[in-house]
Amino acid sequence: MGYDQECEVAVEAVREAARLCVDVRKSLVGAMEKEDRSPVTVADFGSQALVCRRLKAVFPEDPIVGEEDASVLRGGEQSAMRKTVCEFVRAYAQADENTICDWIDAGNGDVAARFWTLDPIDGTKGFLRGDQYAVALALVDCGEVKVAALACPALPVDMDEADGDCGVLFVAVRGEGTQMMPLAGGDVADVRIDDPAWRFAESVESSHGDQDAHKAVARAVGIESPSLRMDSQVKYGAVARGDAALYLRLPSPEYPDYRENIWDHAAGALIVEEAGGQVSDMFGRPLDFVSAAQMEDNRGVVVSAREIHAQVIDALRGV
Ligand code: AMP
Ligand code: MG
Repeated sequence: MGYDQECEVAVEAVREAARLCVDVRKSLVGAMEKEDRSPVTVADFGSQALVCRRLKAVFPEDPIVGEEDASVLRGGEQSAMRKTVCEFVRAYAQADENTICDWIDAGNGDVAARFWTLDPIDGTKGFLRGDQYAVALALVDCGEVKVAALACPALPVDMDEADGDCGVLFVAVRGEGTQMMPLAGGDVADVRIDDPAWRFAESVESSHGDQDAHKAVARAVGIESPSLRMDSQVKYGAVARGDAALYLRLPSPEYPDYRENIWDHAAGALIVEEAGGQVSDMFGRPLDFVSAAQMEDNRGVVVSAREIHAQVIDALRGV
């Protein structure tokens, strides 16, 4: 079964949502510097509204398992925030406040035989800091992730030109490979892991992983260089296009019971696999995107070029 239409709609949806995120970051810079949480919440809600609106217009039967919900926005207490969210959304789609809240709540669906999973802003902390973040959307069908669209508005188009254009869109369809293009439009390139930079990627947030263990595992497979620290699923894009050979996310000793959310990994995982890479948990088990919103039976995440994956899992047994 082909997924051409799903892919097309997913791409349009994350592109539009990414534009809204850029708008919010631009216009609320002052508030963000004060580390006020409201701008990111505005962008989270706005992004989810736009993506859900587009998905529901074309695939009304598909549940959407998204990170946000509009209940906090609906009451009188948050009317100012609701108004701001709606102002940003209306740059792309006209609707009254209630309808926009309904779009957001369209993301309250449950895991089913076929469903979408959405992180409207993955890497909230990166978004606030002015660093990396992503809009991540994946379609799960027949027991696996089939389509992935990952918009990375702050990622340099070329890693060697940090001051060059930013904004990259990764797209993957199972069995059809991964492609990458500038978010603003432009040439589409096939993405294949081939001779990756010999370094590993990890989260900026030290509480989201175990840096000491990451370093030890990387060493064990011969990677000595400093890590590439990035927020969000942008790290999957980085591995797919060869900016790093490995992405390690081992459970933080501070949060041993943490379980990863499907929307934090589903899109990225397909993008790496279709680029010829491998994704598993720290024991080499496949990530379970089909059972629940949290991956109860997985621990940690290991993403790498195929050639070194088994070696990394072996090294993990010794850490
Ligand atoms: P990253 O930017 O790669 O650190 O990923 C951001 C995501 O980390 C957020 O979407 C959170 O859902 C997730 N997160 C929050 N707490 C933890 C934790 N203790 N361990 C792993 N991931 C976490
Ligand atoms: Mg997230």
